[in-house]
Amino acid sequence: MADYSALLGAIPTIEHGFGNKGALLPEHLARYQHTMPEKKQVHGTRIVDVTAPHQACGEADGFYTTQPGILLNVLTADCLPVLFSRRDGTAIGAVHAGWRGLLNGILECMAAHINRADSTANWVATIGPAAGACCYQVDEALVEQFQQTLPLPAPLISPRYRHLDLAAIAARKLQDLGFAGVDQAGSCTICTLNQDPALPYRFKYTSFRRNSHRRAADPHHPGIKGRNQYAGIIMHQGK
Ligand SMILES: [Zn+2]
Repeated sequence: MADYSALLGAIPTIEHGFGNKGALLPEHLARYQHTMPEKKQVHGTRIVDVTAPHQACGEADGFYTTQPGILLNVLTADCLPVLFSRRDGTAIGAVHAGWRGLLNGILECMAAHINRADSTANWVATIGPAAGACCYQVDEALVEQFQQTLPLPAPLISPRYRHLDLAAIAARKLQDLGFAGVDQAGSCTICTLNQDPALPYRFKYTSFRRNSHRRAADPHHPGIKGRNQYAGIIMHQGK
């Protein structure tokens, strides 16, 4: 089962979902796959206006559209996917935000993009499955860089020694940027176990970190190329 947001699920013209190892692209979104923008995610802050199906977007980590029928998506494995929708379902967005994106302000860039001719107060945002504070251990210097760069409480950024809470950082940023609602879907991509007995996997999600540890122990263990999970959102013509 894909993960869903209660906030986005309440908007009638929107379909969305966060994939996992069972279905990297949630099954109900697969029929729109041919409309997905072509893009290369680079942990940057560039947001692209998508105006046509299968648009060539180049290097980009954020996508925005007011056009019905285009499946915006980002690929992740431990990074944060964030999906956005106008509360009336007439515009949507998607962002790939890892620690670099959060530090460099991709959520702020998306908010500025929305605020060109609208207001984040008319929008909601959902944070999908990503590396959780339970597992996301990083260098002490990176924690310090976050705490020195972002105007957020130190324990919110790092609730445990040398661990970052990406979702908490994103949630607080989105609230501070004026979004009308922020929720979360899914759980830690590193440690969440698969609950579906039909699937032959121990873990629910693809995890870059977990895979890296396996590969460090066994260089023949395959990488995660082609196994990232999709967070997708599409709007349909309103009545
Ligand atoms: Zn975890």
